Amino acid sequence: MQQVIVIGGGVVGLASAWWLLEAGYRVTLLERAPEVGTGTSYSNGGQLSYRYVSPLADAGVPLKAVQWLFQEHGPLRFKPQFDPHQWRWLAAFLANCRADVNRRMTDKLLELGELSRQGMARLQPIVPLDAFAWRDAGKLVVYRTRKAFEAAVAKPDPAGTRQVWSAAECVAREPALAAMEDRLAGGIYNGGEAVADCYAFCVALAERLRLHPRFQGVVHGEATRIATMHGRVTGIETPAGSLHADAYVLAAGMQSRALAGTAGISLPLYPLKGYSLTAPIRQDDVAPEISVTDFERKVLYARIGDKLRVAAMVDMVGEDLSLDEKRIASLVRQVRDTMPRAADYTQVTPWAGLRPATPTSSPIIGATPYANLWLNVGHGPLGFTFACGTASLLADLMRDKPTPFPLDGLTL
Ligand SMILES: Cc1cc2nc3c(=O)[nH]c(=O)nc-3n(C[C@H](O)[C@H](O)[C@H](O)COP(=O)(O)OP(=O)(O)OC[C@H]3O[C@@H](n4cnc5c(N)ncnc54)[C@H](O)[C@@H]3O)c2cc1C
Repeated sequence: MQQVIVIGGGVVGLASAWWLLEAGYRVTLLERAPEVGTGTSYSNGGQLSYRYVSPLADAGVPLKAVQWLFQEHGPLRFKPQFDPHQWRWLAAFLANCRADVNRRMTDKLLELGELSRQGMARLQPIVPLDAFAWRDAGKLVVYRTRKAFEAAVAKPDPAGTRQVWSAAECVAREPALAAMEDRLAGGIYNGGEAVADCYAFCVALAERLRLHPRFQGVVHGEATRIATMHGRVTGIETPAGSLHADAYVLAAGMQSRALAGTAGISLPLYPLKGYSLTAPIRQDDVAPEISVTDFERKVLYARIGDKLRVAAMVDMVGEDLSLDEKRIASLVRQVRDTMPRAADYTQVTPWAGLRPATPTSSPIIGATPYANLWLNVGHGPLGFTFACGTASLLADLMRDKPTPFPLDGLTL
């Protein structure tokens, strides 16, 4: 029976550990923080949006990005840095801003989304849905401009699952939108999309891992170097000594880039910093039951348990996790303006996280130049959504089993 060390106890590492246990491996999890799920997986938007997966890179995005940069409260901020990662990533991102590339990657991510939905369903008997406030909320994307709304309606809907709603219908189905009815052009609703608490999912899954007979435990320590020799990884160095196994999985979110670098592997990851706000919902508040995306402002609203979670913004400022007060204040203003009665905004908890993004928005799964080193990284804005799908693909690849669909565009 093979022993595997999974590096990283975020949603991706934990799901990887579970699927590898189920595939027959003995698994140890290496996590530098005292608790699992406290990196980017901690306070994200909570969307399990299996069908709203279109990559960030698309035709027209560079022009829109330039306009956003000139808006004081726009969704994008860019701080040019003497950082080759930033410029290389941007160049690759711009090269992918083409309608044909976007369509191809969207199709691939839809397949991954469906596999992830099935993966989450398979976990249900193990991690009960109420342990992480899972709700079949559906997803409503609302448009403020007629132009954006009409462009969205004109896009094909091969699954035939969406519903197109007028502004009045949006408000009738989702009363939390009442304050913005006269500023709405319309909305597109998709059932079958869910919301949940990603951190609570991580904690619940970690508890189940600990009960698994092949789980070897969580080692709390920081991987500082991947040691290699003759095309194989020989161990993971930590301040407390080296750890050894037959195989190793790198699933350390944004920090995977630096760790892979110690073994000479260049991962095309860049941190897209985002913010979230969490506010308690009082008895008389009108919080959204449906998960809402404000398309033009790129703001997500979800009711998670008895809290409103709002997530937004992309700041390209390097690996900086500080809470930018101006950005937080701007987000609070936008939220109050859009859903003034949805929660107690005097008790907002702000948070910032780094989406570990690839230029194509597609995760990187599977083999590396080292025979016993595997990747599950680069989940960008959709790591909670894709975690169960990429974990099952990783387990297939490590056992040399055929994957349910070709993985072109999803490997190193
Ligand atoms: C504002 C915001 C909103 C988002 N909203 C959504 C959403 O609605 N839906 C969705 O699907 N996704 C969302 N995401 C994206 C999602 O949160 C990420 O894709 C996902 O959390 C990435 O998971 P991960 O396990 O790869 O990384 P992480 O959660 O960062 O986990 C990596 C773990 O590795 C550990 N680690 C790092 N380096 C080392 C080391 N050297 N040694 C040992 N351990 C190490 C870290 O401590 C951490 O626990 C959002 C992200 C942000 C920032």
